[in-house]
Amino acid sequence: MSFQGRTAIISGGTRGIGRAISLELARRGCNIAFNYVRSRDSAASLVSEISKMGCGALAFELNVAHHSAVAGMVREVKERFGSIDFLVNNAGIVRDTLLLRMKEQDWDDVIDINLKGAFNLSKAAAAAMLKARSGSILNITSVSGIHGMSGQVNYSASKAGLIGLTKALAREFAGRNITVNALALGFIETEMTGNLPEDYKSEILRQVPLGRFGNAEEIASIAAFLLSADARYITGQVVQADGGLAI
Ligand code: NAP
Repeated sequence: MSFQGRTAIISGGTRGIGRAISLELARRGCNIAFNYVRSRDSAASLVSEISKMGCGALAFELNVAHHSAVAGMVREVKERFGSIDFLVNNAGIVRDTLLLRMKEQDWDDVIDINLKGAFNLSKAAAAAMLKARSGSILNITSVSGIHGMSGQVNYSASKAGLIGLTKALAREFAGRNITVNALALGFIETEMTGNLPEDYKSEILRQVPLGRFGNAEEIASIAAFLLSADARYITGQVVQADGGLAI
């Protein structure tokens, strides 16, 4: 399954890792549909960049946590491009604080967007993939979901949940030639990590054996491989891209 003329849905395409994955797949000839919630200008510029590469591009301003809106997005993508071949559940947020200070809303927002969002999109995209007996799903998770991080009980739980979803769905869909994998990231330089205090970043950096943070473009290359024809015998796996942070 090559990317040429195929269609990918990417949640959270406007910034960081989602934007880099969108551009990487478009460079390989893939039509791209993505969603976002706030960054309208950035969405318009991404649509224009992808169109210049000769690929179709569709942007949807909607919250992945909203089940019916996501279903509507997927219907429109199928109508416009004819197939849904790849799904990247990338949209995610953090609301970090210690448990005793964590508000119920902080818990609900993180679980709804990071975990329920992936359920919503996977369910909506499944019909097309099951019918075609072909597809690849990639869930962007975090080493925080494997090892747990203080101050992130909501985020760690959401990302651990995504790993469970990945493994269960890989079993459900394997018989229809659909692969489902997770990419567990360490510290990648994006807006999500950009606002962290410098002393905290220095402390994390000391724990990264490769001695540097990752960047969105190198994560996009790994994501493209996991979605590609070269990775068809990989399913239900959690691949860590973290510079050795969580060895
Ligand atoms: P980012 O720079 O904050 O970008 C987040 C993207 O998700 C934006 O496009 C944002 O849209 C979109 N988004 C946020 N809430 C959404 C919602 N409710 N519905 C639809 N789209 C939504 O984040 P990033 O660093 O690229 O992270 C991408 C993924 O990698 C996340 O799942 C994150 O947990 C995971 N990850 C990141 C790191 C890291 O170090 N950066 C490490 C481990 C895992 P707007 O632009 O409209 O806000």
